[in-house]
Amino acid sequence: MFGVWGHPHAARLAYLGLFAQQHRGQESSGIAVSDGRRLYAHVGMGLVAEVFDAETLEKIELRGGGGPGQGAIGHNRYSTAGGSVSCNAQPLLESYVGGQVAVAHNGNLINAEVLRRKFEEAGHLFHTTSDTEAIVHLLASPAQQKAPDPLAATLRHLQGAFSLVFMFPDRIEACRDPWGWRPLSIGRLASGHYVVASETVALAVIEAAHVRDVEPGEIVTLSERGLESRRFAEAQPRPAMCAFEHVYFAHPASRVFGQNVELAREKMGETLFRESPAPAGIDCVVPMPDSGRSAALGFARASGLPYREAIVPNRYVGRTFIKPTQTERNAAVRLKLNIIDELVRGKRLVIVDDSIVRGTTTKAKMDQLRAAGAKEIHLRISCPPIRHPCYFGVDFAEKSQLIAAGKDVEAIRAYLGVDSLHYLSIEGLLACMKGDAAHYCTACWTGDYRLDPEHPEGEYAIEPAQLKIFG
Ligand code: AMP
Repeated sequence: MFGVWGHPHAARLAYLGLFAQQHRGQESSGIAVSDGRRLYAHVGMGLVAEVFDAETLEKIELRGGGGPGQGAIGHNRYSTAGGSVSCNAQPLLESYVGGQVAVAHNGNLINAEVLRRKFEEAGHLFHTTSDTEAIVHLLASPAQQKAPDPLAATLRHLQGAFSLVFMFPDRIEACRDPWGWRPLSIGRLASGHYVVASETVALAVIEAAHVRDVEPGEIVTLSERGLESRRFAEAQPRPAMCAFEHVYFAHPASRVFGQNVELAREKMGETLFRESPAPAGIDCVVPMPDSGRSAALGFARASGLPYREAIVPNRYVGRTFIKPTQTERNAAVRLKLNIIDELVRGKRLVIVDDSIVRGTTTKAKMDQLRAAGAKEIHLRISCPPIRHPCYFGVDFAEKSQLIAAGKDVEAIRAYLGVDSLHYLSIEGLLACMKGDAAHYCTACWTGDYRLDPEHPEGEYAIEPAQLKIFG
């Protein structure tokens, strides 16, 4: 997600910000702009480069007016609730009694279905299947509109993970849930304009300085007055920062929850080596690209073993249209990853990857290595076994589809056909995190859910809104 207010090239900055954060979602992309009076949006299925060409970008930029009153927000979608269909592409642009609003959401609400049912029973019509639309219905309903701060009142009804960027014709409002599940950072351009982005890598691309993160329970407003802040809820005493952001999701160049992602991953690799050293006679440490690279580097450094990129990804393969024959399926796997036979044949390898979810791609990769003549494969994974679904913004399959939910480590090793398999322990993982170990969400590994998805709690404790003005 991305947002910038008051900049004459707001739409273009949003476009760059989305490019920088393509890794966070590849299903759909979109930008909404404000000309100071009205909002316009262009959204579509696919990657940023597929949704925006020179013409569509120029059109959306002109819609925004190119004047000082212009704002833009953008979103790359990765679905965790609602299907990968065009009606769910964001930002969602709606008209309601208060005017127009565009909204972009990162996270996953656990009470969206309850809210939706309530609204549908009252006659509301929904035009998407995503959990984000319920937020706009809440905002539009009389109870919130009568409140002194309708947006804050709306947010207090939401349960689960939400980093949200709203745009109204005269401002952007960005917030994080009181647990702080998903990241959201504030940046400042040399021109003095403020920016918000899911990850700091987007700030770096547009040469904005990282000011600070949006705090859990906080709303920041970007408008002609600069940056203002208020709270819709107190931060939870025990936050739930998603540790999987550091394991897999975030960009290595980003600073997430106060910590650089690449360095955290390298540390995980070093810790993994200390917990489960390589057996004697290993020829080299090979990363599973791209996700295992940083941890493999840490593992290789700690072990003193050579690091060799024996598996090469083809960056130019997007979606492939293949016939469901085994030959074509095999070719599709080989198109995406090429093995350098000379580095693998007859060799004893340590392979490092960040995680195993369903186990299907890992199995295909291990088979490919065997077919290339690997003598021994010792697989090391830089997070613990994923045994529990995520209800807070990562697309982890239902429990039945998680390989580690139904199999112990030895059974997984046998299924993958590797000589040894070790995962990083939860203690080892948390030791690599800069923050207090109790302040991370580890539910996918431990089952320790902060909120019960079956029984969402009531409203948060409300403290009087405080207004601070920056800049
Ligand atoms: P699999 O063996 O099919 O479980 O795939 C494991 C690979 O998927 C690892 O290389 C991970 O980096 C990557 N991965 C991790 N989390 C996810 C996720 N939520 N969705 C898709 N792929 C993921």
